[in-house]
Amino acid sequence: MSSVGPWDVVVIGGGNAGLVAAIAARHRVPRVLLLERAARVMRGGNTRHTRNARCASAEYPADELWEDLRGVGPPGPLARLTVERSAGVPPWMTSHGVRWQPALAGTLHLGRTNRFFLGGGKALVNTYHRTASAMGVEVRYEACVTDLRFDGERCTGVVLADGSRIGARAMVCASGGFEANLDWLRKYWGNAADNFLVRGCRENDGQVLAVLFAHGAASAGAERGFHSVAIDARAPRFDGGIATRLDSIPFSVVLNSAGQRFYDEGEDLWPKRYAIWGRNVAGQPGQIAYSLWDTKVSECFLPPMFRPAMAGDVRSLAGLLGLDPPAVSATVSAYNAAVRPGTFDPSRLDDCSTAGLDPPKSHWALPLDTPPYFGVAMRPGITFTYLGVRVDESARVLRAEGAFRNVFAAGEIMSGNILSSGYLAGFGVTIGHVWGRIAGEAAAACD
Ligand SMILES: Cc1cc2nc3c(=O)[nH]c(=O)nc-3n(C[C@H](O)[C@H](O)[C@H](O)COP(=O)(O)OP(=O)(O)OC[C@H]3O[C@@H](n4cnc5c(N)ncnc54)[C@H](O)[C@@H]3O)c2cc1C
Repeated sequence: MSSVGPWDVVVIGGGNAGLVAAIAARHRVPRVLLLERAARVMRGGNTRHTRNARCASAEYPADELWEDLRGVGPPGPLARLTVERSAGVPPWMTSHGVRWQPALAGTLHLGRTNRFFLGGGKALVNTYHRTASAMGVEVRYEACVTDLRFDGERCTGVVLADGSRIGARAMVCASGGFEANLDWLRKYWGNAADNFLVRGCRENDGQVLAVLFAHGAASAGAERGFHSVAIDARAPRFDGGIATRLDSIPFSVVLNSAGQRFYDEGEDLWPKRYAIWGRNVAGQPGQIAYSLWDTKVSECFLPPMFRPAMAGDVRSLAGLLGLDPPAVSATVSAYNAAVRPGTFDPSRLDDCSTAGLDPPKSHWALPLDTPPYFGVAMRPGITFTYLGVRVDESARVLRAEGAFRNVFAAGEIMSGNILSSGYLAGFGVTIGHVWGRIAGEAAAACD
């Protein structure tokens, strides 16, 4: 393989991080190639499923975004830089063809903090492809990178699944996390991983990440770190997207397979708590849990994508869900007896709570007493993993000592430098843009 191919920069991965990196590089150098593993119709990785980005602005100062990020877990070493650069993301998006729409109403209330791009992630991906193509970026589909070749600290090129080799002066790795690789997840989660569903694309199996680790890349982020939410257990194994998320939780009681409650369903406002429920369900026997509600609250949240089980009494509902009717009935009776009167208000932390119940339900606690009753089984739905390569402020991939000279990373593959355990809705797209730009520009400047 020639040490320098025809390309100035090769970008691996065609989600928002890869596309932004390719465009940013093309502003500086003429020969940019983007390798997308998926077929053209399925291009765009997890970015296809996105709708909004969380960025600092006049209405949402960087310090407030920083505090919000700190509130969901200890931020990584590059988190502050990401927050500071985030204000530049929406103008960059606009200048590269993205159009905007009013914030979508729903259960996450993100109007002030998040910008919604018109048409969601698919439109975003299509827009960036149009922009990149007009600028002369070349794209190859069904181009799965299986290996990277090195000469000391310099990457001499990439190897594709068909055995072909491509050389370049610099590489940007933007191939996502490893959430679609159940064998890899099993290393940290054991057999529980068999019950995880992957909300995003099946292409993100961490192949490039594993190659970088094998060549001595340093890691960032926790092995078990990931973003996950509770989704309908009937969702497909891959690519179910946003529609399978269950937003009934704060207005329901959540039981495990033994028919017992295990966590405060009304702990906090849903935007601050929705992302812990994937992990909550992952911690239960069989990685399954059940959300049960009654008719009087069924208009309080986005309806589930699949029809819920429905019955005229709690015991019959338990039977339909495959749960033990006496156990569920006992749990619901104890819960109903513990509910204290209050003024129900789904829009704020209201005063409807339980007393003397363990675990408590701190808000929106109403008795389950109005038939018909509804229930849905839930599984952990993984959005993306955090364990990735460690990078410096120019997105250069670091080794235990030193760094690769011409390998950069952007997006989910390096999100562990920013996120540790928690997540803020909309920050994934921000990470992809901030670091896609940094990586693309740094790669273009590489000699
Ligand atoms: C259902 C869902 C909804 C989401 N909603 C939002 C939201 O509204 N806002 C938000 O900020 N974040 C959201 N996220 C998270 C968000 O998708 C990501 O953080 C961000 O889009 C990731 O961008 P990326 O470019 O790093 O990865 P991806 O968009 O996943 O792109 C990775 C790319 O790499 C390619 N690839 C993988 N392996 C290889 C290989 N070996 N060779 C070549 N190519 C390869 C894939 O095909 C893909 O094109 C959501 C995620 C999901 C799953």
